[in-house]
Amino acid sequence: MARGWTLIGWLLPATLLTVKAVETPRAEVPRGTRQVLRRDAFRSSVAPTSWAQHGVLSGIQGAGLEMANGGEPSLADFVEPCAMAAEAVPSREAREVFSGGTGRRQVALTFDDGPSRENTPRILDVLAKHDVRVTFFVLGDRGERMPDLLEALDAGGHDVGNHSWSHPSFRSLWRSQIQDEVCRTNAVIERAIGKTPVLMRPPYGRFAPSALSLLGGLGFDVVLWSVDSLDWDAQTPEVIAQTVVSRARPGSIVLLHDRRSVTVHALPKIIEGLRARGFEIVPVSEMLGQSAYREIERAASTVTTLASGLPPALPESEP
Ligand SMILES: [Zn+2]
Repeated sequence: MARGWTLIGWLLPATLLTVKAVETPRAEVPRGTRQVLRRDAFRSSVAPTSWAQHGVLSGIQGAGLEMANGGEPSLADFVEPCAMAAEAVPSREAREVFSGGTGRRQVALTFDDGPSRENTPRILDVLAKHDVRVTFFVLGDRGERMPDLLEALDAGGHDVGNHSWSHPSFRSLWRSQIQDEVCRTNAVIERAIGKTPVLMRPPYGRFAPSALSLLGGLGFDVVLWSVDSLDWDAQTPEVIAQTVVSRARPGSIVLLHDRRSVTVHALPKIIEGLRARGFEIVPVSEMLGQSAYREIERAASTVTTLASGLPPALPESEP
């Protein structure tokens, strides 16, 4: 009997190692093994500061940023408040958005999987030349290496949204892994542009329904799309432009990518074609009538009040 258990004890870790090695973003890992992977792969190494605890427990997003041990904030200083928010904030289902209202003749262009050193600046040039603002859903691991491009997106007036850290399918992740993916990505964006995104697009548009409460609790809206440009597959700019322009409807959210040069060449034709059909091109935030970012200005003043140990001042009543 004891020998049997010993054998299982040896076989189980070996099985896990194998599963981890062959795991791909689209793969479904057997249920019993993922919990162990989570514990090993996503251990937090930084203790939360008392600022972050005060802030998050008081519902203050972005608290904890003032601490940073008096120096330059580390990425962990941004990640930890986000991670704690998932536990402190009562679960709110994230809104799933496929398109905007049909009342206005507006279309939103969205670019996934960047930033790209080669293509993103070219896309920004085209957009600036045509005076168009759009929405970028960026990957954290790329944004961390190219913070200057995140700044350029923001400086161009575009929305910067969250597309996960490493582009896994959320269907094959545990909650803590999804949380790690989105919190680390928001941290990179926040450090680069000083704003916390609330627009989130899961890789491949895939996620289990249960992920909506986690993402909602973290303050996100889940933005999907109603028109796929098929630019990941198309061979010519003309085909991409034709696909987008012919399928656009009032309120359409269009899926594009800033990782392929064929998309860069299609973009002027898309813009001209949509405008010829009378469409106005707007960022997702504008189409939805909301900010692309969490309001943190008010939170900062509340943090100051907490620092002095005084209760928050009551707002002045209207005369
Ligand atoms: Zn993607």
